[in-house]
Amino acid sequence: MKTMFKKPHPSPAPTEDRTARVRFTGLSAGYPGRPVLRQLDAEIPALAVTALVGANGSGKSTLLGVLAGVIRPTAGEVHHTGDRPPAFVPQRGAVGDALPLTVRQAVEMGRWGDRGPWRRLTRRDHTLVETALERLGIGHLAARQLGELSGGQRQRALIAQGLTQQSDLLLLDEPTTGLDPEAREQIAALLTELVADGVTVVQATHDLEAARSADSCLLLRDGRLAGRGRPEQVITTEALSLLWQPA
Ligand code: ADP
Repeated sequence: MKTMFKKPHPSPAPTEDRTARVRFTGLSAGYPGRPVLRQLDAEIPALAVTALVGANGSGKSTLLGVLAGVIRPTAGEVHHTGDRPPAFVPQRGAVGDALPLTVRQAVEMGRWGDRGPWRRLTRRDHTLVETALERLGIGHLAARQLGELSGGQRQRALIAQGLTQQSDLLLLDEPTTGLDPEAREQIAALLTELVADGVTVVQATHDLEAARSADSCLLLRDGRLAGRGRPEQVITTEALSLLWQPA
């Protein structure tokens, strides 16, 4: 994998030809004995929300893993611009309900990449944690156990953890799945605000409302790119019936 780090483009206007935060060509990736992504050519526009849309098993999480740098491509190239490693927000289901962690402790873990788990957090780390808690409206829940929270509140805690990593690229795996409509709307509004603050957001989703509120969509079907572009262009009845058909 070839990775290039460049300074982000200074606040380009949100148009179709904006700078790509990540560009990949001929990208294939998967797991031992299980190829998943096949020959993908696409880009993630900077300073926008991109939705990775597809049925379960279509390769959305695998593509997030490649963008996060935790899954190595078996072929092709991934070019990153931006000077911080991406921040990855896992699926809520992947975070054990029984983990004895307070919300604050969970959010503090976002600083481990810079600090290491056994080093004391600095005053600045604590400030970043408080800022993220407030930003997500969960400051009052900081001392509560993560497992006691509602799905929407737990999702906010995970996003706050991502924000403390201070990346310009936030990768989220199914952030709105299983939430009630109000919590889904709040998350969508938050992602739009983050873009205004200079963050590029990628979310894997099979929530069509989330996909429609994105700036850009990549449709995946059985590990292949089945469409790309603005949601109103690509989220069509025809595309959806194809996406959700068994390959
Ligand atoms: P999605 O996020 O769209 O549901 P995934 O990227 O999670 O899809 O999975 C794509 C395919 O890869 C599925 O068939 C899944 O079973 C398989 N897969 C996912 N994770 C692993 C793994 N760790 N080892 C082997 N196969 C996996």
